[in-house]
Amino acid sequence: MKDRLASIYIGITLVISTLAVVLMVVTGEPAQHEVTAQDASALSAEEQSGRDWYIMDEKLAENSFVIPLPNAVEEQDIQVENDYRKKQFRIILSKISTEDGASVGVSKDYFFGQPVRVNALTESATVEETEQEITISLAFPAVWEWESKYETSLTGNTLHLQLVAPKEKYEKIVVLDAGHGGADRGHIVQGEDEGILLAEDTLAYDIVTEAGSVLEKEGIRVYYTRDKNENPDVTDRVSLANEVQADMFISVHADFSEDTTLYGMRTIYNETYFIPTFGSADLAYLLLEKVAANTNEKAIGFEADSGENEIIRNAMVPVSQLNIGYLSNKQEQKLLEKEDYKQRIAEGLCNAVFAGYEEIEK
Ligand SMILES: [Zn+2]
Repeated sequence: MKDRLASIYIGITLVISTLAVVLMVVTGEPAQHEVTAQDASALSAEEQSGRDWYIMDEKLAENSFVIPLPNAVEEQDIQVENDYRKKQFRIILSKISTEDGASVGVSKDYFFGQPVRVNALTESATVEETEQEITISLAFPAVWEWESKYETSLTGNTLHLQLVAPKEKYEKIVVLDAGHGGADRGHIVQGEDEGILLAEDTLAYDIVTEAGSVLEKEGIRVYYTRDKNENPDVTDRVSLANEVQADMFISVHADFSEDTTLYGMRTIYNETYFIPTFGSADLAYLLLEKVAANTNEKAIGFEADSGENEIIRNAMVPVSQLNIGYLSNKQEQKLLEKEDYKQRIAEGLCNAVFAGYEEIEK
């Protein structure tokens, strides 16, 4: 009986502690609570002391944070990554190795003595240590850009990061959306050996990244709705464009039809969300014109969306979907297999963006 009571007691304790961990994960409470969820023996003395490695500090400028660093950590040892799709900043601090291989400079425990100070709404905060580096990750409820300032002093260095809205930092912003991705390949063309010869997701991704790198070189901030093998929700794709207030939001897809004689390119626009000066229809028109001209391919349609296309329907910025051709058509299929043809589509897309800015700036 006593044994049974004991095991019931242990069972209940387990349930309670599991619930507590689940609650912490759900509420996203950072730092201290994540530490309790781990095996205490894996924690350092600093962590077990219950102190926090980061604190809120309302005396700081709004939407900023300050990372204290030991003297050994110099500016070149710091790397800031903006994972805007996750709304997360990662500050990576390289450890410095001395000649005998010992690492000096910063460790995770350093921040328990001199915490990172934050005055911004955060959704989560973690610090991780590997043999080579320390990674501080801070996630925010919004997409941010940043300005940084590195200061040195006798007692230690500091990295100040001020979060700024994308539109405050960049004059020109374009969001590129490669359709599909991940497990969703979109329309596909089977090869003779059962493998996939052409897939819409890869085509779209190749064109979008090619165009994006050209636009970036022209000083335009380009945000991509997905990475190579991801398939984010349509709502995430659209909200990125809306949040960063893109000047142009371009989605790339391909067509497929049972009628294999059908070929050509078309663009789709939003006719219900009206934007004066430069709107969705203006963008779609330019896209079709410039891409068709640069590829010598037939332009078959410049169409208003019927309300079915969620990207088009929910965008509150000039938006257009470019359908680069029919994968069901043998002739167009052959073209889309060629690198230089994809390159010409990408160039046409860029020409449309440049022409778009000319209209915006008029
Ligand atoms: Zn598609």
